[in-house]
Amino acid sequence: MSRYLNPKYETLAVYTPGEQPQGRQYIKLNTNESPFPPSKEVLSAISSAALADLRLYSDPECVRLRAKLAAAYDTTPEHVFVSNGSDDILNFAFMAFAGGEVPAYFPDVTYGFYPVFAALSGVRCVELPLLEDFSISVPDYCGKDGLIVIANPNAPTGIALSRDELETIIKSNPDHVVVVDEAYVDFGAQSCVPLTWKYKNLLVVMTFSKSRCMAGARLGFAIGTAELIADLNRLKYATNPYNVNRLTLLCGEAAIDSDGYFRARQREIMQIRGETMVALQKMGFTVLQSEANFIFMTHPSADGGALYRELKARGVLVRHFDKARIRQYNRVTIGTRGQMSVFLTETKKLLERGDLHEKQ
Ligand SMILES: *Cc1c(COP(=O)(O)O)cnc(C)c1O
Repeated sequence: MSRYLNPKYETLAVYTPGEQPQGRQYIKLNTNESPFPPSKEVLSAISSAALADLRLYSDPECVRLRAKLAAAYDTTPEHVFVSNGSDDILNFAFMAFAGGEVPAYFPDVTYGFYPVFAALSGVRCVELPLLEDFSISVPDYCGKDGLIVIANPNAPTGIALSRDELETIIKSNPDHVVVVDEAYVDFGAQSCVPLTWKYKNLLVVMTFSKSRCMAGARLGFAIGTAELIADLNRLKYATNPYNVNRLTLLCGEAAIDSDGYFRARQREIMQIRGETMVALQKMGFTVLQSEANFIFMTHPSADGGALYRELKARGVLVRHFDKARIRQYNRVTIGTRGQMSVFLTETKKLLERGDLHEKQ
């Protein structure tokens, strides 16, 4: 920290991203990336002419991509916002729809970036505890006096609410925005996009990072009323109007054009998720019901932190959160069948060795 830093940032707690090791090759099951490459249409989207065009700024309105997204989601382009990853959109949403007297509500166990965005914008946040079974208690979110942010499916649990349950929450908060973060919705949950026609306070946020195999491209989008989208554009145009680069726009357009490929990969992940759950349950793990591309698991005789460290030593990287309520759990991204088979074999060996039991 330099002595020039604005003191208001001195105590800012920042987000801790999952490890992105650059040396040793791990079986990387820690940041919910896709194990599959994007479609061949995406792989060939960037011509040398497109590279030559890098001398030009990108389209700040993302007109072509927004038209394609609007068609794909049965809406019109003025209901679609595009930005540099959905994290960017979530940040804008905290800036735009909370602050001052308006707090933000989200679960005590959810995406770790929400409290960071709140702190950055000086938004007071209220963490509502998940129920004992890690599900969201719908009544807790009804009739609140602030912004509501719900990841559906939730992370790191993978548990989803139904569209009807979310509609109950949205309907009961007409004076405040409800953000539904659908980063993982393509792996089996119901999307709230159809409700954006019905409710002026609903913003659905989505990403190309998970189900469209493009985490490195940094591309996110949101769907809501034209008014909410205009609010987000105010913030985008006040910070960095060109925040989606030309190459990413081309890849995003090609991805929407090859939807069939991505749907097939999503089905494959869901299939492997089912097989992995069964194998883990046979070993004695408790695995939460997941509608995402990861599972959240715990074992009565394996300490969560110890299992994470021992797997890492064997070249398998999973995600462990050092937070009281979930310390005995690990979040494991669904990889290819080959990757999951190594993960399962190593896990089994560790359990049989039997020295993972000391709970810290
Ligand atoms: C991965 C993730 C995001 C971030 O997605 P980007 O588009 O890569 O910024 C947002 N919300 C949740 C819950 C996520 O897990």
